[in-house]
Amino acid sequence: MRPLSEVLQDWEAIIGLEIHTELTTLETKMFCGCKLSHDDEPNANVCPICLGMPGALPVPNEKAIESIVMAGIATNCEVMRRSMFYRKHYFYPDMAKNFQTTQGPVAFVMHGHLDLEVSGDGARERPEGAIEKAPDGSYVAPIRILRIHMEEDAAKMNHLGGAEGRIGGATESLIDYNRCGTPLIELVTEPDLRTPEEARLFMEKLRQIFLTLGISDCSLEHGSMRCDGNVSLRRRGTRELGTKSELKNLNSFKSLHDALAYEICRQAEVLESGGIVLQETRHWEPSRKRTVVMRVKETADDYRMYPDPDLVPFDLSDEFVERCRARVPELPDAKRSRYVSAWGLKPYDAARIAGEPAMASLFEAAAQAVDTSEVPMVANVVVNLVFGREDLMPRQVAGLARLLAGDAITFAQARELVELVAGTDRDPEKTADERGLRQSTDVQALADIVETVLQTCDDQVRQYRAGNKKVVGFLVGQCMKASHGNGNPKLFHQLLTQRLES
Ligand code: ADP
Ligand code: MG
Ligand code: ZN
Repeated sequence: MRPLSEVLQDWEAIIGLEIHTELTTLETKMFCGCKLSHDDEPNANVCPICLGMPGALPVPNEKAIESIVMAGIATNCEVMRRSMFYRKHYFYPDMAKNFQTTQGPVAFVMHGHLDLEVSGDGARERPEGAIEKAPDGSYVAPIRILRIHMEEDAAKMNHLGGAEGRIGGATESLIDYNRCGTPLIELVTEPDLRTPEEARLFMEKLRQIFLTLGISDCSLEHGSMRCDGNVSLRRRGTRELGTKSELKNLNSFKSLHDALAYEICRQAEVLESGGIVLQETRHWEPSRKRTVVMRVKETADDYRMYPDPDLVPFDLSDEFVERCRARVPELPDAKRSRYVSAWGLKPYDAARIAGEPAMASLFEAAAQAVDTSEVPMVANVVVNLVFGREDLMPRQVAGLARLLAGDAITFAQARELVELVAGTDRDPEKTADERGLRQSTDVQALADIVETVLQTCDDQVRQYRAGNKKVVGFLVGQCMKASHGNGNPKLFHQLLTQRLES
């Protein structure tokens, strides 16, 4: 197969995503009072409603509807004042009622959009001029959202006895109804995405927004956020859409990107050899880096959708919508801009921190405890030393930043300090003193290290004198190593330059 960059010169990829998110942070299920939980005994949280017993009547979860309206507001959707639940019929043991309660043509929220900022390598994937690119190649792609609707999740099936990782071949299937009836929101995009990188960025951005809203734990790994990718190709310059295939099992950002990239190249090969793309559902196999057919779509499924007579239509009041709007916190894009303008953070650091609510609160609390001039160093510590960790307190992060900003410790020492204070209430400044973790500014000691290093680096010395001044970076690295990370890199740089220029 030809590489993606080459394929995308001739073909335009058309991508649309369908993203399911379980509202895991709620207490109870969508239509009954059963507890939502991840790790209880199988079938511990069930009742006549979520087991689909005849005559059991559903009662909608108001908090779930608040969550979906917040999700809609945060993605620039219109809140539909009247919508209703439908029954979507199918037979499968994971849904005892034999229908899923979902929404019909009108969803709670519709017609939104998210703007993607694409830069770096990702920007190179989109070759055409339809979108205006900045001089550095970066661009903004507006992606329309068709709708976000509410539905309920099915039970979990465990298939036993089959060969591992294979579909089919199981000898026994067990059903756990704990998940059945979990509130689920499904977002459907318009087919506006054009590259695997854009698809990945969209999913990342959505995850950051939902995390910030606090409506889900958004774990791709544990399946609380799941994505299906639809993709087709058309010749550059043509308008008509081609036949799409639908990709399943995209349970990481990497899988989402790689599966789409593979599928684009596969479809190009089929089309270039005179074949046709079939409308099929394909399964991504990460270990073999390919997609395989799960099923071919022959006729439209007939789900016999009709309004659920047990659930009356929803007329959302202004008051309800305004209450939801008031509960939408500052979103990642706004946070990022504020970090850059108020504190002068580097855009990259600002975006990383603003995208993870736990890191944003750690950063903001630590920033309160230092001088304004030291705030960018707090960001540096959060992004490069403690990102994703939950075992550090804001005042410890502030302490680390102060030590680094004052040139009292090196980055290697800061790393060591993180391990010493994490999970305790120890103070980094005191700990640094107790352990003698202070960066050495003893000029004579450092000059001695410089001499030793220069003696073993004849090559680099010659290169430097021949005009390649960049090797000094390598030499600083050698000196840092020789000082076991305790020397001051700026001093090493000065001393080395002095010696080499003399
Ligand atoms: P289906 O009826 O097969 O589920 P939908 O019209 O509901 O198809 O669309 C599902 C998803 O596929 C949406 O995200 C949509 O943007 C996308 N999509 C629709 N047509 C195409 C196409 N020709 N190529 C790529 N994606 C498409
Ligand atoms: Mg569909
Ligand atoms: Zn129940």
